[in-house]
Amino acid sequence: MEYRKLGNTDLNVSLIGFGASPLGNAFHVTDPAEATRAVHLAIDHGINFFDVSPYYGLTLAEERLGKALYGRRDRVILATKCGRYGPNTFDFSAKRVTASLDESLNRLGTDYVDLLQVHDVEFGDFSQIVEETIPTLRELQRLGKARYIGVTGYPLHMLSRIIEAVSVDSVLSYCRYNLMITDMDDALIPVAKKLGVGTINASALHMGILTERGAPAWHPAPIEVRQAGKAVVEHCNEYGIDLATAALRFCFDHAYVSSTLVGMSTTAHVETNLKVLQATSDPQLQEELQILLKPVFNYVWSSGKPENSDMECLIS
Ligand code: NAD
Repeated sequence: MEYRKLGNTDLNVSLIGFGASPLGNAFHVTDPAEATRAVHLAIDHGINFFDVSPYYGLTLAEERLGKALYGRRDRVILATKCGRYGPNTFDFSAKRVTASLDESLNRLGTDYVDLLQVHDVEFGDFSQIVEETIPTLRELQRLGKARYIGVTGYPLHMLSRIIEAVSVDSVLSYCRYNLMITDMDDALIPVAKKLGVGTINASALHMGILTERGAPAWHPAPIEVRQAGKAVVEHCNEYGIDLATAALRFCFDHAYVSSTLVGMSTTAHVETNLKVLQATSDPQLQEELQILLKPVFNYVWSSGKPENSDMECLIS
């Protein structure tokens, strides 16, 4: 397993991180016993970075992950979040995020997390996040309840503005760097690099679009993007190639990202995704996939408050 330092922290995270949102049935109903086996298998094969949130399954993912980590807590770097509690439920106040961390620690069965992140900053006010939420997280860090702090979200410009305005240890963006899109490299990585902020890339499979099963009903991408996903799945099936493997390899090859998070809840997916770490990318296949995806390449949708949104939806 390759480990990379997360920015200026002393956390050495595995190149593939375990995204635990599926433990809260984010994509489909997950079997908790199988999910526990998946967590154990991942740890036994060197995956040490786990990412969760009270939002995933409305606390179910944290509960299940906490149980699965029983007796294994010291073998993992554990990240959770605060500020988002439902599809339309947000509270970034000092009072709520302070209570939220205690609730998360209780569910996770631990007395500290390695990384506490503000979840989906675009649903908050820039000034509140910078002046109230992040200083509160620093205070929680001072109290020893979180070793490091970070921010997560979709709009890259807001994430960049925040990390320039206030000191954080990590930044997580999702659906902004994978086979379908690479604008994280233009709008976030240069700023993060300059500041030494650790970078986490989430949703290497574009939240299911780059899989055989396809996108869940709630996926925010428009029909053109979903259809392009289906087209690449068919192309890969025709040649007996596993699309998820090609998609993950593309993300693992990123030079600066410390960890790529992949949502997992089965031992089969953990096994497949671990094998990708040993594989090399196939330039001809990458080119074919890029041609198929070109009409929707770098497509973005809006997320959060209009003033925090990146830009109009564009098909380049
Ligand atoms: P993803 O792109 O990782 O896709 C997950 C889906 O792919 C799931 O349905 C999973 O079962 C499936 N999958 C995994 N491996 C597979 C394989 N080998 N073959 C076929 N299907 C496979 O999307 P994600 O789960 O949303 O992102 C990963 C993680 O990143 C999340 O679990 C979460 O921890 C984090 N994340 C954070 C934020 C945020 O903080 N705002 C947003 C998105 C994701």
